[in-house]
Amino acid sequence: MRIAVVGTGYVGLVTGTCFAEVGIDVTCIDIDIKKIENLKKGVLPIYEPGLEEMVQRNAQKERLTFSNDLASSIQGCGCEAAFIAVGTPPGEDGSADLKHVLAVARAIGQHMTDYMVVVTKSTVPVGTAQKVRTAIEEELAARGVDIPFDVASNPEFLKEGAAIEDFLKPDRIVVGVASERAEKVMRKLYKPFLMSGHPLIFMDIPSAEMTKYAANAMLATKISFMNDIANLCEIMGADVNMVRKGIGSDARIGNKFIYPGIGYGGSCFPKDVKALIKTAEENGYQMQVLKSVESVNEKQKEVLFNKIMAHFSGDVAGRTFALWGLSFKPKTDDMREAPSLVIIEKLLAQGAKVRAYDPVAMKEAEHTLGDTIEYGKDEYEALIDADALLLVTEWPEFRSPNFTVVSKLMKEKVVFDGRNIYDAAEMAEKGFAYYGIGVKQNV
Ligand code: NAD
Repeated sequence: MRIAVVGTGYVGLVTGTCFAEVGIDVTCIDIDIKKIENLKKGVLPIYEPGLEEMVQRNAQKERLTFSNDLASSIQGCGCEAAFIAVGTPPGEDGSADLKHVLAVARAIGQHMTDYMVVVTKSTVPVGTAQKVRTAIEEELAARGVDIPFDVASNPEFLKEGAAIEDFLKPDRIVVGVASERAEKVMRKLYKPFLMSGHPLIFMDIPSAEMTKYAANAMLATKISFMNDIANLCEIMGADVNMVRKGIGSDARIGNKFIYPGIGYGGSCFPKDVKALIKTAEENGYQMQVLKSVESVNEKQKEVLFNKIMAHFSGDVAGRTFALWGLSFKPKTDDMREAPSLVIIEKLLAQGAKVRAYDPVAMKEAEHTLGDTIEYGKDEYEALIDADALLLVTEWPEFRSPNFTVVSKLMKEKVVFDGRNIYDAAEMAEKGFAYYGIGVKQNV
C-alpha cells in the first residue's frame, strides 16, 4: 500500500512514520523546505520520544520518504489515500482557519491522476470535508478531467509526549466516510493497528469531525472543573488531592485527567475549545459550559503569579525567579499557549528576572522568548540566588530533587508548585515555604 501525508508537524510526521512502521510506503510532504531537508538527513523538527529512531529506521528501509514537491509526489503515485495533516490555527475570531487545509485540497485536485481517498487528519469543524470535496471537484473541473475520489474524516487523538504509543496502540480510531470504497481503503490501512483489540469506529463524516472537538472540549472541561474545585478547596480549607482521590474512585467519574494545575495550554485544547464555541455561535447556539471552561482557564494561568505577588507583598522588582518547566506539559518541546509564557510575561512586566530550565524545550524557548529571560544549563543552575522556585511543568526529573542542594543554592527557600508534585508538610520539614494549588499551604 502507498499513501501520502501532507504536513509534517507533530501529527503528520507521527502519522507518516507509524504507517511506514507497519510496512506501508509513505511520502511525507511539507512546504517548509528546511524541515524537509533536515528530515532527509534524519534531523527532526520536533521532540517526540522514540520518533527520531523510528524515522531514521523507516527512511533507511525506503518506506518513508520526504518531499517538498506535492505535484510530483501525487501525480501517478499510486497512493490509495492522501492525508491532510496541516495546521488549523485559530483565525482572528477564534474559528479554525482552514486556509492550509483547503490549499492542500486544491493542490491535490490539481495533480491527482487516479482514485484516492483524501483524508482530513487535521482537526477541522463540521462541514470541512464537504469544502475539501468541493475544492478538489473545482480543480478537476478546471483541468477538464473526471477522476473519481472520496473524502474521509479521520481525526487524530494522539497526545504529544506519547504520540507513537497512542498511534500504534490507539484507544480507538474514528473514521467518517460516505462510501463503501473509502471505508474499504481505511479499513485496510488501519488493520495493522487493531491488534490491541480497540475499535475502528466508522461513522458519517460530520459526526467524525465533531467527535474530535467533543473529545478535546470534554478534556478541557475536566481540567477547568478541577481547577475551579481546587480554588474553592483553598478558600474553604479542604485539600483537592484528597477530593480528587475521593471522587476519582467513582467509576462514573474516573481517576484520569482530574489533576488541578495552572491551566491547560498546548496547540489543541485552547484553539479547539475556541473553535467549537465559534462554530456554535455561527449556527445560533451558545456553548455556555465551554465559555466558562475557557474563562476559568485564563484565570488559572495567573494563579501562580497571584500567589507570588501575595507572598512578596506585591514587590518582585529585581528579584530572581527560578522556573522549572517551559513546555505546556512534560515530554514535549511544544510551548504553544504554555502557562509558563503567561507567568514569565507577568513577572517581567513587574521588573523581575526569570531563570528557566526545561529538559527539552530550551531551544524552543530561546526561539520564542530570546534573551528576555536567562537559561540555566540544568535545574540546579537555574536556582542560583533565586528568590523562589516556580514549578511549572511536571517533568519526572523535577519530582525528587536534592533539596539540600536546592536549599544551598537559593537565596530564599520558597516554592510555588503549579502542579502539586511536592508535599506541603514535607516541604515545611525541609524549611521551605510552600504554595500548591488547592492544597493546604504551609505559610
Ligand atoms: P504543526 O504546526 O506542527 O504542523 C503543520 C505542518 O503543516 C507544518 O510543518 C507546516 O509547514 C505544514 N504545512 C502548512 N501548510 C502546508 C501546505 N500547504 N502544504 C504542505 N505542508 C503544509 O501542526 P500539528 O500540531 O501537527 O497539527 C496539525 C493538525 O492536527 C491541526 O489541525 C491540529 O489541531 C491537529 N492535531 C494536533 C495534535 C497535536 O498534539 N499536535 C493532536 C491531534 C490533532
